Amino acid sequence: MAANREDQEENKDRYFKAVHGNKTLLQSEKLYEYILETSVYPREPQCLKEIRELTFKHPLSPMMTSPDEAQFLSMLLKLINAKNTMEIGVFTGYSLLATALAIPDDGKILALDITKEHYEKGLPIIQKAGVAHKIDFREGPALPLLDQLIQDITAIFNCLMYDQQRLINYAKFENEKYHGTFDFVFVDADKDNYVNYHKRLIELVKVGGVIGYDNTLWGGSVVAPPDADLDEHILYLRDFVQELNKALAVDPRIEICQISIADGVTLCRRIG
Ligand code: SAM
Ligand code: CA
Repeated sequence: MAANREDQEENKDRYFKAVHGNKTLLQSEKLYEYILETSVYPREPQCLKEIRELTFKHPLSPMMTSPDEAQFLSMLLKLINAKNTMEIGVFTGYSLLATALAIPDDGKILALDITKEHYEKGLPIIQKAGVAHKIDFREGPALPLLDQLIQDITAIFNCLMYDQQRLINYAKFENEKYHGTFDFVFVDADKDNYVNYHKRLIELVKVGGVIGYDNTLWGGSVVAPPDADLDEHILYLRDFVQELNKALAVDPRIEICQISIADGVTLCRRIG
């Protein structure tokens, strides 16, 4: 019985650390250190290192994307030749800067965050890196911003028409501006809205484009037993993460791949 309690404590600690702590679900921290020291840090651009070190001083630093995941995203962006991208959940800008460095000079990132406060801390480093021109930052809750994008249209033509001898004006709406235009979207914000984001993003990403949902293993808590003694925050969001994973698994409009890097990222390639 005592061993059982110990196991429970150990699991609780493991789930917590994977979400809020060392950002790996690998069973061996030594192995994770090995990956970072051997393959990630030596290749990390100086500007990303600066944002990482600046972010470590922030009380919310565990929210930052891990360097191995950012390296993975950077490789992915280059493999798919991503140019027009979106990020939901910017914080101090670590994954944003990794994206900005990975896309071409005329590439774009629509960056959404409910607050500008943290982004402003990383912004001088992004500016110094010479990639700020690629970023269009919009402050506010992402859901209404996405709804706005869906409604946005390329042009409203003022058309002149005759109506029973009278010249009248009417607006002709053409082309939904953002539909099917994004090559890549990285979602790393409020997990309780991911299913709602997916409903919108599937219209905004192009066919062949990729949406990456972050933290989809939620510290491993997605497989915790129903009676597991979990941290309140982890427990609350776990149901939403599980709901998202189930919804993505049966969505015929996408192909998916669950990557077990960091806290888990699910890649969804739009096929229809
Ligand atoms: N990708 C970031 C990085 O590499 O450091 C980490 C993002 S952090 C995990 C989550 C971010 O989502 C926070 O900056 C938070 O302000 C933002 N956020 C939370 N709720 C949001 C919402 N409803 N709409 C937009 N952003 C939101
Ligand atoms: Ca994350």
